[in-house]
Amino acid sequence: MKKLFMITVILTTLHIKAQEFTEQDTLRGSITPERAWWDLNYYHLDIEVKPDDKFISGTNTIRYKVLDKNQVLQVDLQPPLVIEKITQDGKNLTFESNGNAHFVRLEKSQIVGDFNEIVVHYSGHPKEAVRAPWDGGFSWKKDENGKHFVATSCQGLGASVWWPNKDHMYDEVDSMLMSVKVPKGLMDVSNGRLRKVDKDTNTYHWFVSNPLNNYGVNVNIGDYVHFGETYDGEKGTLDMDYYVLRDNLEKAKEQFKQAPKMMEAFEHWFGPYPFYEDSFKLVEVPYLGMEHQSSVTYGNQYGNGYLGRDLSGTGWGLKFDYIIIHEAGHEWFANNITYKDIADMWVHEGFTMYSESLFIEYYYGKEAASEYLLGIRKNIRNDRPLIGPYGVNKAGSGDMYNKGANILHTFRHIMDDDEKWRATLRELNEEFYHQTVTTKQVENYLDDKVEGDFGTFFDQYLRTANIPVFEYEIQDGIFKYRFTNVINGFAMPLKVEMAGKTDWISPSTEWQQKSLKGNDIQVDPNFYVDVKKG
Ligand SMILES: [Zn+2]
Repeated sequence: MKKLFMITVILTTLHIKAQEFTEQDTLRGSITPERAWWDLNYYHLDIEVKPDDKFISGTNTIRYKVLDKNQVLQVDLQPPLVIEKITQDGKNLTFESNGNAHFVRLEKSQIVGDFNEIVVHYSGHPKEAVRAPWDGGFSWKKDENGKHFVATSCQGLGASVWWPNKDHMYDEVDSMLMSVKVPKGLMDVSNGRLRKVDKDTNTYHWFVSNPLNNYGVNVNIGDYVHFGETYDGEKGTLDMDYYVLRDNLEKAKEQFKQAPKMMEAFEHWFGPYPFYEDSFKLVEVPYLGMEHQSSVTYGNQYGNGYLGRDLSGTGWGLKFDYIIIHEAGHEWFANNITYKDIADMWVHEGFTMYSESLFIEYYYGKEAASEYLLGIRKNIRNDRPLIGPYGVNKAGSGDMYNKGANILHTFRHIMDDDEKWRATLRELNEEFYHQTVTTKQVENYLDDKVEGDFGTFFDQYLRTANIPVFEYEIQDGIFKYRFTNVINGFAMPLKVEMAGKTDWISPSTEWQQKSLKGNDIQVDPNFYVDVKKG
């Protein structure tokens, strides 16, 4: 019997909404007792993909370290895929299924500190992607020559849509081997480095030696050709490899010149690429693209912009290939620093959208970057908070991209020290190197870098959907100002132009005033506030 229960989540103090979540949401989105007692160490995903039948089958070996005594282990796999059997040390185990969650009863006594393995055998027709990568699964496509062109994508939906695993983000596997058997004449490209190819069976073995999040794991199957280069980076020689459809080789050689340019800019801002050991790759796919770790997938049709469009409307968005820059930016924010709970997804998308502006700044200057950020600000809806409800696999507002980037831009202008800002971004990638984090950790880290307490700043911008209104009046040489539409205690410094001079003020919710020579003031537009003159 399945029991449904409700969790009421207060989304904001001002917009109180009740949302219904199911037991399945909780089993997927929380660290259940059957997950908490073991620490992921290693996966060997060993599968055969049959594109003609849209069918997959194989095993995943899950190695884990016992943290606490427990005999029941949760593994996730979504129907219509079916678990055929689960074994430990060659012995069949029993398991009880509750939707996507399967509770395996272990017979061997689980001793704290031991490393044990289970092997999950499974097969079936996995969910087909409807609108990859957003509504993901398997994309079963064909290239222009009629050859199979297949790829997986599964952020949010969960990796358990195509392979059995511990489908929660808090625990990243330490290393992973992917063995993928594909029809003759096709190649599989997955994460990390190609260890070997079994010519007899046409099986490709890819190995990732760094911690990896579940949704980052991918298979891409096609009639690929390869080219590559080495990049002399901050941590030594980095292999950069590109896999594209045979017919697109010449176009790719031209367009992917942006990849080393990206690497130069992002190492400058964020520090060394986080996965030198695993190399960096761009892999062509039949959908727009995704930040799969060390195998960033690409489907932007070899043109600049976002499928040819400039999301900022300023012209700067056409100076670069959106998918190369954005998805590769995720190597630092998503793959290096990874959310523990998808509620904090703004940490991936806010920083990465912001990274686009830093790419622009590196090559075209600070003014250009500001124009880009102010341009994308027009796309913000302020419909709901950036942070979603925790524990139920639910992301916050889609504003996490444009607004997330503008929050960081505002924070940088509060800091008002470009070198310190760059150092902060680089240190952030050291502090949380290869870790999963919460918003709170990132927020506290940033807060410590500036004088004063910015708790209300983050509460306002991340946890409500309201933008501070800077309200002011000027009368008889007196400039009066305050913030409205804000939470209790909100205050933040603002840069203003007054009588031809730049000055700082510290508005709060209380009226303050100062004398003014001149008729009006100008709030620095880099600060994301609404301005209202009374
Ligand atoms: Zn993204």
